[in-house]
Order: sequence, then structure tokens, then C-alpha cells
Amino acid sequence: MKEIVVISGKGGTGKTSMVASFATLAKDAILADCDVDAADLHLILEPVIEKREDFSGGKKARIIGEECIACNRCVEECRFDAIRYRTLDDGTTAAKPSIDIISCEGCGLCKRLCPVDAIAFEPVINGQFFVSSTRHGPMVHARLGMAEGNSGKLVSLIRQEARKLAEGKKLEMIIVDGSPGIGCPVISSITGADGILIVTEPTLSGKHDFLRVAKLAAHFGIPSFLCVNKWDLNPEMAGLIEKEALENGLKIAGRVRYDAAITKAQIMKKSVVEYTDAEVSDDIKNVWRSVRGSLDVGREPRSKENN
Ligand code: SF4
Ligand code: SF4
Repeated sequence: MKEIVVISGKGGTGKTSMVASFATLAKDAILADCDVDAADLHLILEPVIEKREDFSGGKKARIIGEECIACNRCVEECRFDAIRYRTLDDGTTAAKPSIDIISCEGCGLCKRLCPVDAIAFEPVINGQFFVSSTRHGPMVHARLGMAEGNSGKLVSLIRQEARKLAEGKKLEMIIVDGSPGIGCPVISSITGADGILIVTEPTLSGKHDFLRVAKLAAHFGIPSFLCVNKWDLNPEMAGLIEKEALENGLKIAGRVRYDAAITKAQIMKKSVVEYTDAEVSDDIKNVWRSVRGSLDVGREPRSKENN
């Protein structure tokens, strides 16, 4: 089984359009939307949910008002300033502190310090993940609650589910829409993958963002490819980014030209290669052929144990 992850230095580079087209072209793949903070692959692929489960990324603290003796120990020691005395509607201050669930990082310190055991420490539901069917194959995706953290843990869960599904259905390819940036979610998206495609745009910030993710990919020793999207908007910069990519050991998967059809395809809930036969579709097909063809099918699978 091979797992290819599509990532970008920041959101909005055309990464998801690329993944949707790959889904159309692959025919035999499991799809995994690991861009959990801004999931939008479902807008194009219109999944029909077959299984849904709650996701708990950890525990949070809650003060049991009747037990609390207002000793202030927890207020003083919480380094996330999550425990405060609320101002009541009548303008007075509450007699006992309470915990702001958004600010609480779930470290559990207050629970350990409280002298009268007045703090409960309970799992919280941060979101849901789904196993769905789409017109281009099974898909694992998720919805994270507003202002919820732990997206790295959710990404790992989605990839695990995608692997289980691929094994069960004997499908040999997983295509992952990875998280943008270089934080915890993207590390969870790429660890143990067989190949990475980095999508970027031909701008100075695109070059900067590309170099950051390329270094991250190199750190994990994963074979990586570059695709400059909308390359014809700045051919000189596209060339510079490709030069940097080659110097950093990446392969060039191809270039994709600017075409308003990419946006129109999204509006029509279609992948670009479904929507049009124009040259932009040929560009994407070339990128897919490069990435697909370069995965070394003969070698042993990479270790997945870091996930
Ligand atoms: S669990 Fe940690 S972060 Fe949350 S309120 Fe307690 S001390 Fe603060
Ligand atoms: S440490 Fe316990 S008793 Fe003291 S203020 Fe916090 S919750 Fe209340």
C-alpha cells in the first residue's frame, strides 16, 4: 500500500483541487482529508457518510462548585490563565473560580493541586470523524469543533482509519489532502508517508513557504515532489522555486497553468479533470503521472510506528 500526501506551505494554493483531480484519476484509492482545520475536499466530492464517530483529543478540567473552598491554589498555578473569578450579571465577582474551557489546555495540574478534590478532569468531544463513500472511492474525513485543538491527533486518527479501510478493501493507494504549514497537523499528515507532493504558487512568499515545508519533508526523509501552481503568472519565480527544489533533493512533478476553470470546477462541485478537457487538465494529469510513477512499488513499506 502506498500513501501520497499533498501539502502546501499555506492554505489556498490549489492543494485540494489537485487532490480531487488525483481522486478522479486514481480510480482505486482511499481518500483522506487531513486538512482538518479547513476541510473542504467534501465540498467537491460530496461524500455520503456511512460511519461517524466522536473524536476526543483529550481531557479538560471542570471545577465542582459545591466542593470548592476558593483557596485560589489552582487560580495561581494554572499557567494558561484558564481559571478565573467570573464577573456576574449584577457586576459582582463570583465567590468561586471557574474554568474557561477554551483556554484550558488539559494539563491536569489543577486537578493534582486541589486540596479538596474539587476538580473533575473529563474527556471532551472535540469533533467527529467520518467514513464515507464518494463517486471516486471511499473517503475518511472529519469535522473539528470551533476553536478546538488537537488537530494533530485527529489527523493521525484519519490516516489510521484510511489505512484500515485500504487494507479491508484491498486498495493499494491512499491519497491524503494534508494540512498546510509546518505545525503539528502537517507533521502528523506526513510521518511515515511514501511520497509528498508540495504545491506552491510562484510568489516570493510561495517560495519562502515552499522551502519551509521542503525542509520538513527532508527531515523525515520522505521522497518529495514539487508542483508550481499558476506557474505562468510568474514564470521567472516558478523557475527559481524549481531550481531551489532540485538543489534540495526534490523532484519536479510538473507545472499547472492558471485557468479560471479551476474555480469554476469547485463551484460546480467537480474536480478539474472532470470539469474540463482544457490544457490545465493535461497539466494536472502530468503531475499525477509523475507522482504515481515515481513511487517505488518494489520497496518495503515505510515504518508507520511514529503515527
Ligand atoms: S487542566 Fe491545566 S490548563 Fe486546564 S485549568 Fe487545569 S491547570 Fe489550567
Ligand atoms: S484548588 Fe480546588 S478548592 Fe482551591 S480554588 Fe481551585 S478548585 Fe477551589
